Amino acid sequence: MDHFDQIVVGGGLAGSVLVYQLTQQGQHICWIHKGQEKSSTAVAAGLINPLVFRYLTSVWKANELLPEAVNFYQTIEEISQRNFLHPITIAKVFGDQDEAIWQQKMKKPEIAQWIDSIGNVPHNDFLFQPFGAGFVQGYWLDTVVFLEEINKIVAGQAVILSERFDLDELHLTSDGVTYKNRFHAKKLIFCEGWQAVKNPFFDFVPFRPVKGELLTLKIENLNSNYLLNKDVFLLPLGHDIFRLGSTYDWNDLSDEPTKSARANLLTKLASFLNTKVEVIDHQVGVRPAIADRRPVSGVHPDYPQLAIFNGLGARGVMIAPWLGKQFLELLLHQKPLNEEIDLNRFVKK
Ligand SMILES: Cc1cc2nc3c(=O)[nH]c(=O)nc-3n(C[C@H](O)[C@H](O)[C@H](O)COP(=O)(O)OP(=O)(O)OC[C@H]3O[C@@H](n4cnc5c(N)ncnc54)[C@H](O)[C@@H]3O)c2cc1C
Repeated sequence: MDHFDQIVVGGGLAGSVLVYQLTQQGQHICWIHKGQEKSSTAVAAGLINPLVFRYLTSVWKANELLPEAVNFYQTIEEISQRNFLHPITIAKVFGDQDEAIWQQKMKKPEIAQWIDSIGNVPHNDFLFQPFGAGFVQGYWLDTVVFLEEINKIVAGQAVILSERFDLDELHLTSDGVTYKNRFHAKKLIFCEGWQAVKNPFFDFVPFRPVKGELLTLKIENLNSNYLLNKDVFLLPLGHDIFRLGSTYDWNDLSDEPTKSARANLLTKLASFLNTKVEVIDHQVGVRPAIADRRPVSGVHPDYPQLAIFNGLGARGVMIAPWLGKQFLELLLHQKPLNEEIDLNRFVKK
């Protein structure tokens, strides 16, 4: 039997960030994941925006999450000598009421801190912007490159099993868990993304998964370095390639791309961009969201051998490094979690 401190299940953003952070603390990890099959991370646009444009409010805990995230991804960039966290100026293309709302909200320092300026997107003949635009500094994480690099880094420090985890092979023991009668760990941490809805141990967590669809487009001569946003976002990837996203569907959780999502995205784009676009790819993922829109982490109330790290929702890139740090404090130093992110909030007292 091989002995570990933890077994971690799932190789999306949650599992990757957590496995890296645990190995940094000297923990001996067995990481079970099968590539990026059905991973929300692999299709995510990877955007970090400290503002919620719909209400023009700060993202929950943005002041803590943003520096933690930037620092985390930049550290991995340095180790891997690859660039995957890209700063980008987000241009929110205004509707007729927006400028007045932005001017009003900018009187609040907690909102003003994120806004660079109000004006017009320069040198863009295709863009319809009669009411101007607001500019915010953000980032986008190339999630595919990030996952690739973190797997390489961790490969030297953890045992990676490239397979699907089978719950029937799990046994709880007095001092932890065994898996396939070959691996023993003090704890097993589930980072299964939205597929956690099928995990019987955590059936009391009110998951509310949201399917999202994205298009990859070729748009010639747009030459935009801005992340344009008006109901949908258009992210420039270089060489006339852009990503257009994204949709939200709580009912259809299949991994099939739909004609209606494609039409919806293209119609919204056409409302502010007047040029020919060519669709070259259409991707689908399901965001692991929770009913109260907060992430979830913690140790099972009845089976202390089992834990969960999940619920990254639509903003996982910004949340994961901070959440991992909080969770490590619980796992390694028994420091209680903030109520808002604690699994215990769903445990009936
Ligand atoms: C269209 C779309 C756009 C998005 N855009 C953004 C964005 O711009 N910014 C942002 O921050 N977030 C975005 N997100 C959300 C982001 O993708 C998630 O917050 C985050 O990636 C979730 O990571 P995760 O690891 O929890 O889940 P996942 O990435 O889904 O990973 C879970 C992994 O666990 C594996 N797994 C599950 N069960 C098992 C098992 N039994 N055995 C082995 N492996 C298992 C799955 O195969 C999967 O690889 C977007 C999501 C979608 C769908």
